[in-house]
Amino acid sequence: NIERAERLQKLPPYLFQELDRLRDQVRARGVDIIDLGVGDPDQPTPPHIIEALNAAAQDPRTHKYPAYSGLSRFREVAADWYKRRFDVDLIPNQEVITLIGSKEGLAHFPLAFVNPGDVVLTPSPAYPVYKGSTILAGGVPVEMPLRKENGFLPDLAAMDPALLQKAKVMVINYPNNPTAACADLEFYERVAALAKKHEIIVVSDAAYTEMAYDGYRPPSFMQVAGAREVGIEFHSLSKTYNMTGWRIGFAVGNAQLVAGLGQVKSQIDSGAFDAVQLAGITALTASQDCVAQMNKLYAGRREVLVKGLQGLGLEVERPKATFYVWCGVPAGQTSTDFCRKLLEEAGVVSTPGVGFGSAGEGYVRFALTVDEARLQEAVDRLAGLGL
Ligand code: PLP
Repeated sequence: NIERAERLQKLPPYLFQELDRLRDQVRARGVDIIDLGVGDPDQPTPPHIIEALNAAAQDPRTHKYPAYSGLSRFREVAADWYKRRFDVDLIPNQEVITLIGSKEGLAHFPLAFVNPGDVVLTPSPAYPVYKGSTILAGGVPVEMPLRKENGFLPDLAAMDPALLQKAKVMVINYPNNPTAACADLEFYERVAALAKKHEIIVVSDAAYTEMAYDGYRPPSFMQVAGAREVGIEFHSLSKTYNMTGWRIGFAVGNAQLVAGLGQVKSQIDSGAFDAVQLAGITALTASQDCVAQMNKLYAGRREVLVKGLQGLGLEVERPKATFYVWCGVPAGQTSTDFCRKLLEEAGVVSTPGVGFGSAGEGYVRFALTVDEARLQEAVDRLAGLGL
Protein backbone atom coordinates (compact mmCIF):
# COMPACT_ATOMS: atom_id res chain seq x y z
CA ASN A 1 0.00 0.00 0.00
CA ILE A 2 1.77 3.11 -1.25
CA GLU A 3 -0.88 5.59 -0.23
CA ARG A 4 0.67 8.62 1.41
CA ALA A 5 0.15 9.20 5.12
CA GLU A 6 -2.82 11.32 6.12
CA ARG A 7 -0.53 14.05 7.39
CA LEU A 8 0.79 14.59 3.86
CA GLN A 9 -2.70 14.64 2.46
CA LYS A 10 -3.51 17.47 4.87
CA LEU A 11 -0.72 19.69 3.51
CA PRO A 12 -1.85 22.55 1.28
CA PRO A 13 -0.79 22.27 -2.38
CA TYR A 14 2.63 23.73 -3.01
CA LEU A 15 1.79 26.63 -5.27
CA PHE A 16 5.43 27.48 -5.97
CA GLN A 17 5.95 24.14 -7.62
CA GLU A 18 3.15 24.93 -10.07
CA LEU A 19 4.72 28.31 -10.74
CA ASP A 20 8.10 26.70 -11.50
CA ARG A 21 6.37 24.41 -13.95
CA LEU A 22 4.75 27.35 -15.72
CA ARG A 23 8.05 29.23 -15.83
CA ASP A 24 9.82 26.28 -17.40
CA GLN A 25 7.04 25.96 -19.98
CA VAL A 26 7.36 29.61 -20.98
CA ARG A 27 11.15 29.33 -21.07
CA ALA A 28 10.88 26.28 -23.34
CA ARG A 29 9.06 28.51 -25.82
CA GLY A 30 12.30 30.49 -26.09
CA VAL A 31 11.21 33.43 -23.89
CA ASP A 32 14.01 35.28 -22.07
CA ILE A 33 12.86 34.90 -18.45
CA ILE A 34 13.59 37.50 -15.76
CA ASP A 35 13.21 35.51 -12.56
CA LEU A 36 12.16 37.59 -9.57
CA GLY A 37 10.49 34.57 -7.98
CA VAL A 38 12.62 32.73 -5.47
CA GLY A 39 14.38 34.55 -2.61
CA ASP A 40 17.82 33.21 -3.39
CA PRO A 41 20.70 35.71 -3.64
CA ASP A 42 22.34 35.83 -7.08
CA GLN A 43 25.77 36.85 -5.76
CA PRO A 44 28.43 34.30 -4.72
CA THR A 45 29.43 33.54 -1.14
CA PRO A 46 32.29 35.92 -0.15
CA PRO A 47 35.72 34.36 -0.91
CA HIS A 48 37.02 34.43 2.68
CA ILE A 49 34.13 32.15 3.73
CA ILE A 50 34.82 29.73 0.88
CA GLU A 51 38.50 29.68 1.86
CA ALA A 52 37.54 28.89 5.45
CA LEU A 53 35.43 25.96 4.23
CA ASN A 54 38.27 24.68 2.05
CA ALA A 55 40.70 24.80 4.96
CA ALA A 56 38.24 23.18 7.37
CA ALA A 57 37.42 20.39 4.93
CA GLN A 58 41.14 19.46 4.85
CA ASP A 59 41.02 18.63 8.55
CA PRO A 60 39.98 14.98 9.01
CA ARG A 61 38.32 15.84 12.32
CA THR A 62 35.56 17.54 10.32
CA HIS A 63 34.86 14.28 8.49
CA LYS A 64 33.25 12.71 11.54
CA TYR A 65 29.60 12.87 12.57
CA PRO A 66 29.03 16.32 14.03
CA ALA A 67 27.58 16.92 17.51
CA TYR A 68 23.75 17.08 17.21
CA SER A 69 23.51 20.54 18.69
CA GLY A 70 26.56 21.93 16.92
CA LEU A 71 30.19 22.73 17.61
CA SER A 72 30.69 24.47 20.96
CA ARG A 73 32.83 27.05 19.20
CA PHE A 74 30.10 27.83 16.67
CA ARG A 75 27.57 28.29 19.45
CA GLU A 76 29.94 30.56 21.37
CA VAL A 77 30.49 32.64 18.26
CA ALA A 78 26.75 32.84 17.60
CA ALA A 79 26.21 33.99 21.22
CA ASP A 80 28.98 36.60 20.87
CA TRP A 81 27.41 37.79 17.64
CA TYR A 82 24.03 38.21 19.42
CA LYS A 83 25.78 40.18 22.15
CA ARG A 84 27.51 42.49 19.65
CA ARG A 85 24.52 42.89 17.39
CA PHE A 86 21.61 43.01 19.86
CA ASP A 87 23.26 43.32 23.27
CA VAL A 88 21.60 40.03 24.29
CA ASP A 89 23.48 37.69 26.66
CA LEU A 90 23.18 33.99 25.89
CA ILE A 91 24.65 30.86 27.48
CA PRO A 92 26.11 29.11 24.42
CA ASN A 93 25.73 25.48 25.48
CA GLN A 94 22.16 25.94 26.75
CA GLU A 95 20.58 28.76 24.81
CA VAL A 96 22.09 28.29 21.33
CA ILE A 97 21.80 25.42 18.85
CA THR A 98 23.26 25.02 15.38
CA LEU A 99 20.82 24.24 12.58
CA ILE A 100 21.10 22.81 9.08
CA GLY A 101 19.66 26.06 7.79
CA SER A 102 16.99 27.80 9.84
CA LYS A 103 14.28 26.02 7.85
CA GLU A 104 15.37 22.76 9.42
CA GLY A 105 14.85 24.13 12.93
CA LEU A 106 11.59 25.88 12.08
CA ALA A 107 10.29 22.65 10.57
CA HIS A 108 11.40 20.42 13.45
CA PHE A 109 10.29 22.74 16.24
CA PRO A 110 6.58 21.76 16.22
CA LEU A 111 7.56 18.10 16.59
CA ALA A 112 9.05 19.05 19.94
CA PHE A 113 6.25 21.25 21.29
CA VAL A 114 3.00 20.76 19.38
CA ASN A 115 0.62 17.96 20.33
CA PRO A 116 -2.03 16.72 17.90
CA GLY A 117 -4.82 19.31 17.82
CA ASP A 118 -2.74 22.13 19.33
CA VAL A 119 -3.28 25.53 17.75
CA VAL A 120 -0.30 27.29 16.17
CA LEU A 121 -0.87 30.92 15.23
CA THR A 122 0.88 31.56 11.93
CA PRO A 123 1.08 34.85 10.09
CA SER A 124 -0.66 35.21 6.76
CA PRO A 125 0.97 35.93 4.37
CA ALA A 126 4.05 33.97 5.51
CA TYR A 127 6.93 31.69 4.65
CA PRO A 128 4.97 28.44 4.07
CA VAL A 129 7.12 26.27 6.35
CA TYR A 130 5.38 27.42 9.58
CA LYS A 131 2.08 26.02 8.41
CA GLY A 132 3.45 22.88 6.76
CA SER A 133 5.50 21.86 9.78
CA THR A 134 2.56 22.48 12.12
CA ILE A 135 0.41 20.15 10.02
CA LEU A 136 3.16 17.51 9.89
CA ALA A 137 3.23 17.58 13.70
CA GLY A 138 -0.55 17.12 13.87
CA GLY A 139 -1.15 20.70 14.97
CA VAL A 140 -3.75 23.10 13.67
CA PRO A 141 -2.43 26.25 12.02
CA VAL A 142 -4.66 29.29 12.50
CA GLU A 143 -3.78 32.30 10.36
CA MET A 144 -3.16 35.71 11.90
CA PRO A 145 -3.82 38.11 9.02
CA LEU A 146 -1.16 40.75 8.39
CA ARG A 147 -2.91 43.78 6.95
CA LYS A 148 -1.56 46.91 5.39
CA GLU A 149 -3.50 49.16 7.76
CA ASN A 150 -1.62 47.56 10.68
CA GLY A 151 1.77 47.83 9.04
CA PHE A 152 1.56 44.09 8.25
CA LEU A 153 1.81 43.28 11.96
CA PRO A 154 -0.78 40.94 13.52
CA ASP A 155 -3.49 42.96 15.26
CA LEU A 156 -2.78 41.63 18.75
CA ALA A 157 -5.47 43.71 20.43
CA ALA A 158 -8.13 42.30 18.12
CA MET A 159 -7.23 38.65 18.65
CA ASP A 160 -9.96 36.42 20.01
CA PRO A 161 -9.20 35.70 23.70
CA ALA A 162 -10.64 32.18 23.35
CA LEU A 163 -8.21 31.50 20.49
CA LEU A 164 -5.30 32.88 22.49
CA GLN A 165 -6.30 30.66 25.38
CA LYS A 166 -6.11 27.61 23.09
CA ALA A 167 -2.92 28.58 21.24
CA LYS A 168 0.30 26.75 22.04
CA VAL A 169 2.65 28.63 19.70
CA MET A 170 2.69 31.98 17.91
CA VAL A 171 5.02 32.53 14.98
CA ILE A 172 6.27 36.01 14.10
CA ASN A 173 8.71 36.97 11.32
CA TYR A 174 10.28 40.42 11.07
CA PRO A 175 11.74 41.76 8.84
CA ASN A 176 8.95 39.94 7.05
CA ASN A 177 8.90 37.66 4.10
CA PRO A 178 6.94 38.40 1.91
CA THR A 179 5.67 41.89 2.87
CA ALA A 180 9.08 43.37 3.88
CA ALA A 181 7.37 44.87 6.94
CA CYS A 182 9.46 45.53 10.05
CA ALA A 183 8.62 45.34 13.74
CA ASP A 184 9.89 47.59 16.51
CA LEU A 185 10.70 46.77 20.12
CA GLU A 186 7.34 48.07 21.29
CA PHE A 187 5.62 45.42 19.16
CA TYR A 188 7.94 42.74 20.52
CA GLU A 189 7.15 43.87 24.07
CA ARG A 190 3.45 43.46 23.39
CA VAL A 191 4.04 39.98 21.92
CA ALA A 192 6.08 38.93 24.97
CA ALA A 193 3.39 40.22 27.36
CA LEU A 194 0.61 38.47 25.46
CA ALA A 195 2.60 35.24 25.32
CA LYS A 196 3.27 35.34 29.03
CA LYS A 197 -0.37 36.04 29.86
CA HIS A 198 -1.72 33.20 27.70
CA GLU A 199 1.26 30.82 28.12
CA ILE A 200 2.09 30.80 24.43
CA ILE A 201 5.49 29.88 23.00
CA VAL A 202 6.83 32.54 20.64
CA VAL A 203 8.77 31.44 17.57
CA SER A 204 10.53 34.44 16.09
CA ASP A 205 11.99 34.00 12.61
CA ALA A 206 14.78 36.54 12.22
CA ALA A 207 16.23 35.36 8.89
CA TYR A 208 16.34 38.89 7.44
CA THR A 209 17.59 41.12 10.27
CA GLU A 210 20.89 41.80 8.49
CA MET A 211 19.40 42.67 5.14
CA ALA A 212 18.34 46.26 5.77
CA TYR A 213 18.78 49.69 4.22
CA ASP A 214 19.36 53.37 4.87
CA GLY A 215 21.11 52.69 8.18
CA TYR A 216 18.14 50.82 9.66
CA ARG A 217 19.09 48.03 12.12
CA PRO A 218 16.16 45.67 12.73
CA PRO A 219 15.82 44.58 16.38
CA SER A 220 15.55 41.06 17.81
CA PHE A 221 12.60 39.70 19.78
CA MET A 222 15.19 38.50 22.31
CA GLN A 223 15.91 42.12 23.26
CA VAL A 224 12.67 42.61 25.16
CA ALA A 225 12.00 41.73 28.78
CA GLY A 226 10.46 38.30 29.21
CA ALA A 227 11.35 37.08 25.70
CA ARG A 228 13.63 34.40 27.04
CA GLU A 229 10.87 32.99 29.21
CA VAL A 230 8.57 32.40 26.27
CA GLY A 231 10.57 32.45 23.07
CA ILE A 232 13.02 31.01 20.63
CA GLU A 233 14.49 32.93 17.71
CA PHE A 234 15.72 31.42 14.47
CA HIS A 235 18.64 32.91 12.61
CA SER A 236 20.20 32.15 9.31
CA LEU A 237 23.48 32.79 7.56
CA SER A 238 21.79 32.07 4.21
CA LYS A 239 20.74 35.50 3.04
CA THR A 240 23.26 37.57 4.97
CA TYR A 241 26.31 35.89 3.45
CA ASN A 242 24.85 34.42 0.24
CA MET A 243 25.06 30.94 1.75
CA THR A 244 21.61 29.49 1.00
CA GLY A 245 23.07 26.26 -0.36
CA TRP A 246 25.40 25.73 2.57
CA ARG A 247 22.57 25.03 5.02
CA ILE A 248 23.68 26.79 8.16
CA GLY A 249 21.69 28.68 10.75
CA PHE A 250 21.05 28.65 14.47
CA ALA A 251 18.38 29.17 17.08
CA VAL A 252 18.70 31.02 20.38
CA GLY A 253 16.46 31.56 23.37
CA ASN A 254 14.71 29.71 26.17
CA ALA A 255 16.91 26.79 27.25
CA GLN A 256 14.02 24.33 27.45
CA LEU A 257 12.81 25.24 23.97
CA VAL A 258 16.33 24.89 22.61
CA ALA A 259 16.73 21.53 24.37
CA GLY A 260 13.42 20.22 23.02
CA LEU A 261 14.48 21.09 19.51
CA GLY A 262 17.81 19.39 20.19
CA GLN A 263 16.01 16.23 21.28
CA VAL A 264 14.12 16.07 17.98
CA LYS A 265 17.31 16.69 16.05
CA SER A 266 19.11 13.89 17.86
CA GLN A 267 16.50 11.47 16.52
CA ILE A 268 16.24 12.85 13.00
CA ASP A 269 19.49 14.36 11.76
CA SER A 270 23.09 14.22 12.81
CA GLY A 271 23.91 17.91 12.90
CA ALA A 272 25.47 20.37 10.48
CA PHE A 273 28.76 19.54 8.71
CA ASP A 274 31.52 20.76 11.04
CA ALA A 275 33.45 22.34 8.17
CA VAL A 276 30.40 24.43 7.28
CA GLN A 277 30.10 25.49 10.92
CA LEU A 278 33.79 26.49 10.91
CA ALA A 279 33.18 28.53 7.76
CA GLY A 280 30.13 30.00 9.51
CA ILE A 281 32.40 31.08 12.38
CA THR A 282 34.49 32.97 9.83
CA ALA A 283 31.36 34.55 8.36
CA LEU A 284 30.17 35.78 11.78
CA THR A 285 33.56 36.95 13.08
CA ALA A 286 35.33 38.43 10.03
CA SER A 287 34.75 41.95 8.75
CA GLN A 288 31.09 42.56 7.93
CA ASP A 289 31.98 44.76 4.94
CA CYS A 290 30.63 42.09 2.60
CA VAL A 291 27.19 42.46 4.23
CA ALA A 292 27.27 46.24 3.85
CA GLN A 293 28.28 45.86 0.19
CA MET A 294 25.44 43.44 -0.51
CA ASN A 295 22.95 45.75 1.15
CA LYS A 296 24.21 48.64 -0.98
CA LEU A 297 23.71 46.51 -4.08
CA TYR A 298 20.15 45.57 -3.05
CA ALA A 299 19.34 49.17 -2.13
CA GLY A 300 20.26 50.26 -5.68
CA ARG A 301 18.08 47.52 -7.14
CA ARG A 302 15.25 48.44 -4.81
CA GLU A 303 15.23 51.99 -6.17
CA VAL A 304 14.98 50.77 -9.76
CA LEU A 305 12.13 48.37 -9.08
CA VAL A 306 10.15 50.49 -6.62
CA LYS A 307 10.33 53.63 -8.78
CA GLY A 308 9.58 51.59 -11.88
CA LEU A 309 6.50 49.90 -10.40
CA GLN A 310 5.25 53.15 -8.88
CA GLY A 311 5.68 54.76 -12.30
CA LEU A 312 3.31 52.13 -13.67
CA GLY A 313 0.71 53.17 -11.09
CA LEU A 314 1.16 50.07 -8.94
CA GLU A 315 0.90 50.24 -5.15
CA VAL A 316 4.32 49.55 -3.64
CA GLU A 317 6.22 50.74 -0.61
CA ARG A 318 10.00 51.06 -0.46
CA PRO A 319 11.18 48.17 1.75
CA LYS A 320 13.34 49.12 4.75
CA ALA A 321 14.63 45.54 4.95
CA THR A 322 14.59 42.17 3.12
CA PHE A 323 15.14 41.85 -0.62
CA TYR A 324 11.43 41.68 -1.40
CA VAL A 325 9.08 44.20 -2.93
CA TRP A 326 5.43 43.62 -2.03
CA CYS A 327 3.28 45.02 -4.79
CA GLY A 328 -0.49 45.50 -4.95
CA VAL A 329 -2.31 43.79 -7.80
CA PRO A 330 -4.49 46.04 -9.98
CA ALA A 331 -8.17 45.78 -9.01
CA GLY A 332 -10.23 43.01 -10.54
CA GLN A 333 -7.47 40.37 -10.80
CA THR A 334 -6.31 37.65 -8.47
CA SER A 335 -2.64 37.48 -7.56
CA THR A 336 -2.36 34.18 -9.41
CA ASP A 337 -3.87 35.63 -12.61
CA PHE A 338 -1.62 38.68 -12.38
CA CYS A 339 1.51 36.54 -11.91
CA ARG A 340 0.54 34.35 -14.80
CA LYS A 341 0.04 37.41 -17.00
CA LEU A 342 3.45 38.85 -16.07
CA LEU A 343 5.05 35.52 -16.85
CA GLU A 344 3.26 34.69 -20.07
CA GLU A 345 3.15 38.16 -21.57
CA ALA A 346 6.39 39.68 -20.22
CA GLY A 347 8.56 36.72 -19.18
CA VAL A 348 8.78 38.15 -15.65
CA VAL A 349 8.51 35.70 -12.75
CA SER A 350 6.91 36.91 -9.52
CA THR A 351 5.20 35.06 -6.67
CA PRO A 352 1.44 35.36 -6.07
CA GLY A 353 0.62 36.66 -2.62
CA VAL A 354 -2.02 33.99 -2.10
CA GLY A 355 0.79 31.39 -2.17
CA PHE A 356 1.85 32.78 1.22
CA GLY A 357 -1.63 32.47 2.73
CA SER A 358 -5.12 33.80 2.10
CA ALA A 359 -4.37 37.28 3.46
CA GLY A 360 -1.66 37.63 0.79
CA GLU A 361 -4.31 37.81 -1.93
CA GLY A 362 -4.19 41.13 -3.75
CA TYR A 363 -0.39 41.26 -3.82
CA VAL A 364 2.58 39.78 -5.62
CA ARG A 365 6.14 39.53 -4.38
CA PHE A 366 9.20 40.45 -6.43
CA ALA A 367 12.67 39.38 -5.25
CA LEU A 368 15.60 41.73 -5.95
CA THR A 369 17.74 38.89 -7.27
CA VAL A 370 18.81 40.30 -10.66
CA ASP A 371 20.94 43.34 -11.48
CA GLU A 372 19.63 46.86 -12.03
CA ALA A 373 19.70 46.63 -15.82
CA ARG A 374 17.57 43.47 -15.77
CA LEU A 375 15.18 45.01 -13.26
CA GLN A 376 14.79 48.02 -15.54
CA GLU A 377 14.16 45.61 -18.41
CA ALA A 378 11.46 43.91 -16.30
CA VAL A 379 9.84 47.29 -15.60
CA ASP A 380 10.00 48.22 -19.29
CA ARG A 381 8.36 44.95 -20.25
CA LEU A 382 5.58 45.50 -17.71
CA ALA A 383 5.10 49.02 -19.07
CA GLY A 384 4.49 47.42 -22.45
CA LEU A 385 1.59 45.43 -20.97
CA GLY A 386 -0.36 48.59 -20.14
CA LEU A 387 -1.31 47.43 -16.63
N1 PLP B 1 12.64 32.12 7.17
C1 PLP B 1 12.23 32.89 6.17
C2 PLP B 1 11.26 33.97 6.44
C3 PLP B 1 12.71 32.66 4.88
O1 PLP B 1 12.27 33.42 3.88
C4 PLP B 1 13.63 31.61 4.66
C5 PLP B 1 14.14 31.31 3.32
O2 PLP B 1 13.69 31.78 2.32
C6 PLP B 1 14.03 30.84 5.75
C7 PLP B 1 13.51 31.12 7.00
C8 PLP B 1 14.94 29.66 5.62
O3 PLP B 1 16.25 29.99 5.44
P1 PLP B 1 17.40 28.93 5.65
O4 PLP B 1 16.81 27.59 5.87
O5 PLP B 1 18.20 28.98 4.39
O6 PLP B 1 18.16 29.40 6.85
